[in-house]
Amino acid sequence: LDDNIARATGFLARFAKDGVLNHIGGHAVPAASGKTFEIISPVDLKPLAEVARGDAVDIDAAAKAAHAAFAAWAALPGAERRKILHRIADGIEARADEIAMVECMDTGQALRFMSKAALRGAENFRFFADKAVEARDGKTIQALGQVNMTSRAPLGPVGIITPWNTPFMLSTWKIAPALAAGCTVVHKPAEFSPLSARLLVEIAEEAGLPKGVWNLVNGLGEEAGKALTEHPLIRAVGFVGESRTGSMIMAQGAKTLKRVHFELGGKNPVIVFDDADIDRAVDAAVFMIYSLNGERCTSSSRLLVQEGIYDSFTAKIAARARAIKVGHPLDPETEVGPLIHPVHEKKVLSYFEIGRADGATVAAGGEKATGPGGGCYVKPTLFTGAHNKMRIAQEEIFGPVLTAIPFKDEAEALAVANDVPYGLAAYLWTQDVTRAFRFSESVQAGMVWVNSENNRHLPTPFGGSKESGIGRDGGDWSFDFYMETKNVCFAT
Ligand code: NAD
Repeated sequence: LDDNIARATGFLARFAKDGVLNHIGGHAVPAASGKTFEIISPVDLKPLAEVARGDAVDIDAAAKAAHAAFAAWAALPGAERRKILHRIADGIEARADEIAMVECMDTGQALRFMSKAALRGAENFRFFADKAVEARDGKTIQALGQVNMTSRAPLGPVGIITPWNTPFMLSTWKIAPALAAGCTVVHKPAEFSPLSARLLVEIAEEAGLPKGVWNLVNGLGEEAGKALTEHPLIRAVGFVGESRTGSMIMAQGAKTLKRVHFELGGKNPVIVFDDADIDRAVDAAVFMIYSLNGERCTSSSRLLVQEGIYDSFTAKIAARARAIKVGHPLDPETEVGPLIHPVHEKKVLSYFEIGRADGATVAAGGEKATGPGGGCYVKPTLFTGAHNKMRIAQEEIFGPVLTAIPFKDEAEALAVANDVPYGLAAYLWTQDVTRAFRFSESVQAGMVWVNSENNRHLPTPFGGSKESGIGRDGGDWSFDFYMETKNVCFAT
């Protein structure tokens, strides 16, 4: 741990000294206003850096830079874009330790997960690099008396707005397909965790990405974020964050008719039938709520268990939750680190009171934890004896907090699973294949995993239904968003 702290301190020194600058038209620049805001580490609440506080003026400069760079970038053959994107992946791999450690100190996420997240960022770039060659491929549709040729072209400059949870991985997931499609980008990262976005844009330009193709403006959501969604040169906004922010962005973008892609919140059920492979289901349920501090859109925050196995299953989860190692994010042994920020910690702690007041039982955790540095640590928590009308079953807590609810039969499980405003993911545990198909068809979720934790395969669609999102990422779905489709019809 001491070695890791020393290395992380080395990586962070430049931010403490020079602050975190914007990046516009290939230049690292402060906010035009000269204003900054301070970020702190959730480990010890000490300042990490002063960050450029961009506003509408900086967004305007970034949008113009992205607009100016667009024609040349869009005209570059896909094979050339492919090479550059692979070089970005090389750069990420070369600096994966630095990225992971900076991310740990900025977000509180445990190193064991951030090391993987950094490499997944490289994988995202490689995946979309290889697709860049085919992004513009069209098809021919023949009908009597006509031949139709459909083609796709990049939309133009796009805005990408990302949240504070796993910010590095999520930024690569949104930006790599935009670049592969031939779009240029203005990125506005979350104000709680802006450090890795700065590393990423530097890596991209060192890899040969032309200046102005990727611009970065830090700032507050209601200032820089809002200005980005309203800017007339920005053709589309890819947004990852809370559902209510998505709703604001839709309203803000209405005047300029922005195309939007939203990956929003979730209250994802894991449904365990009594014929399930119990040991695997326990492992997966524990992993899906307590890994990444529970600050994960696809976390399985509602545990629906069939009556006959409810007590034994929840007892196993409670024992596992109590045994989880909460600690310094840079400690390789740590499973749960401090939550992102005192504001968020307060929100998560408030749900411990709400759950108790609503009559649920705290079977594990339910209080603040002590940890090195005295930061935003909370205990991995399990509520039992809950029902689906309780706030702890309806609202996204976004922490290591699981709410367990018993169900009688398949019909009741389905009704409870669907009785939330969200519809991102569902996890289903049963050995009955017919039931798995039937249930998957009716459960309201953009993604269903059967007998598995969240196991991503990049060509498959990722996204949510209901208040969990609009649109899909992954594979060719990403290009549908970042590209415009044209049909040319020839009479024969
Ligand atoms: P948030 O909505 O508060 O902020 C996300 C981003 O939006 C930040 O960069 C913020 O500055 C910006 N923003 C805020 N107000 C804005 C406005 N009016 N206009 C433009 N931009 C604005 O979300 P958060 O708290 O940072 O992240 C956590 C949320 O993200 C959770 O709800 C989580 O479920 C969701 N999330 C979803 C997915 C998914 O794939 N579905 C993935 C990760 C996170």
